[in-house]
Amino acid sequence: MTITAVSLHGVTKRFGEDVVAVDDVDLQIQDGEFFSLLGPSGCGKTTTLRIIAGLEFPTEGSVRIFEEEMGLRPPNKRPVNTVFQSYALFPHMNVADNVGFGLRMQKVDDSEVRRRVGEAIDLVRLTGFEKRSPKALSGGEQQRVALARALVNAPKVLLLDEPLGALDLKLRQTMQLELKDIQHEVGITFVYVTHDQGEALTMSDRIGVMNEGRLAQVGSAEDVYESPKNLFVAGFVGEMCLLPAVVAEPGSVRLSDGEIIRARTSSPKGAEVTLTVRPEKLHIYSTASEAPPNRNALKGSIVRRTFYGESLVYGVQIGSSDSIEVRVENIPGIRRWDVGNQVIIDFHPEAAMALTE
Ligand code: ATP
Repeated sequence: MTITAVSLHGVTKRFGEDVVAVDDVDLQIQDGEFFSLLGPSGCGKTTTLRIIAGLEFPTEGSVRIFEEEMGLRPPNKRPVNTVFQSYALFPHMNVADNVGFGLRMQKVDDSEVRRRVGEAIDLVRLTGFEKRSPKALSGGEQQRVALARALVNAPKVLLLDEPLGALDLKLRQTMQLELKDIQHEVGITFVYVTHDQGEALTMSDRIGVMNEGRLAQVGSAEDVYESPKNLFVAGFVGEMCLLPAVVAEPGSVRLSDGEIIRARTSSPKGAEVTLTVRPEKLHIYSTASEAPPNRNALKGSIVRRTFYGESLVYGVQIGSSDSIEVRVENIPGIRRWDVGNQVIIDFHPEAAMALTE
């Protein structure tokens, strides 16, 4: 049986007359889930997290944590803990004292504090750093101390607000994998706020994509990447080529130059849509006879080539006004195209989706 850790019903948060930061959000997060709230700056994800934490109260709607109505309960009376982007460690205390501070405030006895602090430090892989001052730690190590300080209280739900935001890319990627491992190890529910789609895709069991205070889609990483429900999700999660089109028949669309393309459609015949396809799902051939049969093929010419190291991205002009990008993995023997080459862009009908707002 699945147990719901956090549930939001009709949660709206207004600031003053004009700002609707969170707009009628319904959401259920399951026990043990790594759930990310993903969206652009200002979409309401931090406010949603703060409402779960009890740092803000909803204007309308309700929050339940493990089936208990939270009402106006303050943060320290909720079974949650929050890790923020700024670590706010006490500079005059060593690592172990920082981690154990909350337990000491609760008058937990010394031997218990030592045991739990030891476990938490071990969990975040900081054994040996107990006596260090925060000043003598790297950014990544400081963030681990902040994480240990939150985990030591054994919250049922850990709320994380862009905790890796201040770290450089390489360290962030390492910490993403470690955070996921730690979450597996402790088995508690993580609710993670980020604007970084790569981060959300790699770590989450499910993602809630937010736009203007609303949940645009909730699903697994694969769901939101492979089957975005609307143009906002398609454009925000990963890269996407967009071509204006009209639904010709169920299962096919007409591009601006009249070309018919097979695609996943749910809009009626005649509807104006945007044909979406991921750059890595497109292939380039020199002639139509080289391309596999029974797929979509578009004539184009290479207008740009960009080298990214692990891949190359070609800008391809399609017809008179449209252009798309094709990402090709940089592997030995792969054919390189030059600006001006006339090519065929090939893709599977399943890779193409016709979407609307
Ligand atoms: P970011 O990634 O930039 O932190 P976010 O998605 O977390 O953005 P929120 O911080 O939840 O967004 O803010 C949502 C909206 O509510 C924004 O327009 C913001 O300006 C507004 N807002 C947030 N807190 C307040 C406040 N205390 N008073 C007034 N407006 C606020």
